[in-house]
Amino acid sequence: MGQTLETRLQERCKKDLSLCSNEELYTGLLSLVQSMAQEKVSAEGKKKLYYISAEFLIGKLLSNNLINLGIYDEVKELLAAHGKELSQVEEVEPEPSLGNGGLGRLAACFLDSIATLGLNGDGIGLNYHFGLFKQVFKDHLQQETPDPWLADPSWLTKTDVSYQIPFKGFTLTSRLYDIAVTGYENRTNKLHLFDVESIDESLVEADHITFDKEAIEKNLTLFLYPDDSDEAGHQLRIYQQYFMVSNAARLILDECVAKGCTLYDLPDYAVIQINDTHPTMVIPELIRLLMERGMAMDDAVDVVSKTCAYTNHTILSEALEKWPIAYLKKCVPQLVPIIEILDDRIRRRYDDESVAIIDRTDRVHMAHIDIHYGFAVNGVAALHTEILKNTELNNFYKLYPEKFSNKTNGITFRRWLLHCNPKLASLITSLIGDGYKKDARELEKLWQYKDDPKVLEALLQIKEENKAALVEYLGKTQGLHLDSSSIFDIQVKRLHEYKRQQLNALYLIHQVLKIKKGELPSAPVTAIFGAKAAPAYTIAKDIIHLLLCLQELTAEDPQVSPWLRVVMVENYNVTLAEKLIPACDISEQISLASKEASGTGNMKFMLNGAITLGTDDGANVEIHDLVGDENIYIFGESSDTVIGRYAEGSYKSIEYYEKDPELKEAVDFIVSEKMLSIGSKEHLERLYKEFLNKDWFMTFPDFQDYVKTKHLAIKDHADRTAWAQKMLRNISQAGFFSSDRTIEEYDRDIWKLR
Ligand SMILES: *Cc1c(COP(=O)(O)O)cnc(C)c1O
Repeated sequence: MGQTLETRLQERCKKDLSLCSNEELYTGLLSLVQSMAQEKVSAEGKKKLYYISAEFLIGKLLSNNLINLGIYDEVKELLAAHGKELSQVEEVEPEPSLGNGGLGRLAACFLDSIATLGLNGDGIGLNYHFGLFKQVFKDHLQQETPDPWLADPSWLTKTDVSYQIPFKGFTLTSRLYDIAVTGYENRTNKLHLFDVESIDESLVEADHITFDKEAIEKNLTLFLYPDDSDEAGHQLRIYQQYFMVSNAARLILDECVAKGCTLYDLPDYAVIQINDTHPTMVIPELIRLLMERGMAMDDAVDVVSKTCAYTNHTILSEALEKWPIAYLKKCVPQLVPIIEILDDRIRRRYDDESVAIIDRTDRVHMAHIDIHYGFAVNGVAALHTEILKNTELNNFYKLYPEKFSNKTNGITFRRWLLHCNPKLASLITSLIGDGYKKDARELEKLWQYKDDPKVLEALLQIKEENKAALVEYLGKTQGLHLDSSSIFDIQVKRLHEYKRQQLNALYLIHQVLKIKKGELPSAPVTAIFGAKAAPAYTIAKDIIHLLLCLQELTAEDPQVSPWLRVVMVENYNVTLAEKLIPACDISEQISLASKEASGTGNMKFMLNGAITLGTDDGANVEIHDLVGDENIYIFGESSDTVIGRYAEGSYKSIEYYEKDPELKEAVDFIVSEKMLSIGSKEHLERLYKEFLNKDWFMTFPDFQDYVKTKHLAIKDHADRTAWAQKMLRNISQAGFFSSDRTIEEYDRDIWKLR
C-alpha cells in the first residue's frame, strides 16, 4: 500500500503519462482497475445467489468501475494534469455485446446493485464472441454485421474451471471466463461467462452473420440469439441454453459442496434466479446431476424446486419459449425422460391441460416448468404482475398464489446518473449532499427547490449543455447534424411492433403533411430514434425503412426541415443510450397498454429530467402515480380495454382508417409517390398492408389521442419555468426506481441471503 494512483498507473504504462496514447492509457487503467477489484473482497456467507441469464448488457466497464472504486475524479484529474482526457480514453473501449435490450440491461444493473449492497451473488451467462450484431444502415435498410467486441486487452480473465458437457453424440469442453463486477464503494462479485474450448471464429466471414449452423463444437458461442428461422437455428439455441445451464449447475454444485453442502441441503446454500425462460433447462439438468450423484428422484425434485425462482418478462405468447420435444431428443436426450416425468406428475395432480408441461402437440412449455418446479414467480412491474395473476397465468396463480409476487424493475443510478450525467449529479450534490448516491429516496429532498428560480434555471442549463454535447457527438461519430435548440423527442429501444415506433412514425407523417399545408407547429422538434430489429423480423425492418425514409424526407424538404427532423442513430447500444438520455426533453414510452412488462428506459429518462409521453403501461403506471398527472403526458386506451378487445377478437383497423381522414391521409402517405421515390416499394407496401389488414398492436385507436397529447407536451415545453418544475418533479421522484431498491426486495422476499 501507500503507492499513489499515479505511481501505479505509471508503472503499468511504463512511460510518462503525457507521452502515452489513449490506447496505452486504456490498457494501463484496465489493468489497474482489475487489480484494485481483486483487492476488494467478495461477500461471503453460506447462501449464494446465482443469477442465470442469456444476456448481460453491461456496457463499457472502465468509467463505471472507476466510479464504483471511488477513483473517477482522481483519475480524471491525473490525466488532465498530463494533458489527457478521460473521455477520449473511454472511446477506446469496445462495448461488450452480450445483450439485446431491457432484459439484459436489467441483469447488468442487478449485478451492480448486488455488489453495492454487499450481497453474495454472481451472474452466469455465455461469452458470445460476435455478440448480437452490429447494425449498419444501407439504402435505408438495416444490415447486420458481426460485432467482434472481444479485443485484447479485455476485462475477461481466464479461469481453471472447465467441464465436459454431454450432447447427443458428442461432448464439448467448456472454459469459464470471469469479469469482476465492482459495487459502489463496496465489494466485488463476478460475472461468470462460459465458453467452448473448440470455438472457431473463422466460421464467421467479415460483414456477415450467417455461418455453418451444424458445426456446434465450433459455433456454439459465436452469436447471441442466432437466426432461428429454420430448424438448425432452433436447435442451436437449445444447444446454447443447455450448455449455459449445465455449466452453471456443475459450478453451483461444486461451490456448494466445497462449502460443506450435503446436496440435500442445497436450498440453504444456493438460490438460482432464472431470468426469463432461456435458463429453464437448469431445473431438469440439476435434477439429473443430483440423481447421477445418487439422490432419489423425489428428493432431487424437492431440492431443486426449493432452489429455483423464475422472473417472467413478457406476456407476448410468441416470446414464451416452447421447444418441440423432438428437438430436445435430438440435442439433449438425457433431459427428455426427466421432463416427461415432471409433466406426468403435473398431469396426475391437476386435471387441466392448460398447465401441462408437454402439450398435445408435443411442445415443452418452458415457463410451465419454472412455475411448477420453482418456489417463486415474479413479474417486473405492478401492472404486469396483476396481468399475470388475473389473466395470462391465472390458471397457475389459482394453484400457487403464494409463489407470485411483484418486483418492479430498477436501474443503477451509478451508471444512469453519476456516470452519464455528471453535471446533473453535481448540481444535485450541491443541493442535497451525496446521501442519494447510496439511498436514492433522498432525491425527494430536491422538491423543496420547486420554486427556486436558480435551481430551475440550472436544470434547464444542464439540459442545454447535454443536448449540445449530443449534437457534437452525433456529428462526429454518425455524420448527423442536429439543431440543439429544437425539442429533442426520443424513442430508443428494441424495434418491436408492441413498442409502436410505427405509431410515432404515423404522427411524424401527419406533422409533415400539416407543415406542407402551412399549419406550423408551436416549436421545432427533432424526433430521434435508435433501435435494432431482430434479423428475421420482417415488419420491424420495414418500420426501420420507413423511419430512414422519413429521415431523408425531413432533411431535404426546405419547408419541413426547419420545423421537423427525423433521425435514426445507427447501432443503438448502452454507449449511445448514455449520451442520448441526458439530452432528452420528451421520452417516448408508447407501447400498447398491457404489452410492455415494465420498461427501464422510461426510468432512465425520468431520472435525467425528461418528461414521459406514454401509455398507462408497465412501469409508466408507477411513474404516473409518483409524479402526478401534471408531470407526465398519458394517452391512449387502458390495458383493460386492450385486453378486452383481444379477448373479443373484435379489432378491425380498417374501420378506424375509413372513419378518420387524418389517419387515412397519414397511412396512405406511406405508399405515396414521394415516399416511393425515396424508399423501396416492397418494404413500404408490405408495411402499408400490415396497417390496413392487421395492425395487431392497435395503433389506430390511439392515434388521435397521441397527436393531441404530444401537441400539448410540445406547447407546454415553451413555458420554461413550468417545464423545469416538471423536470424537477420527475428527478425527485425517481428514487423508487433504483435497482438497489429492487434488489433489496428480491433479497427480502425471495433470496433471503442475510
Ligand atoms: C435501458 C436499455 C434498454 C431498455 O429500454 P426499454 O425502453 O425499457 O425497452 C434497451 N437497450 C439499451 C441499450 C438500454 O440501455
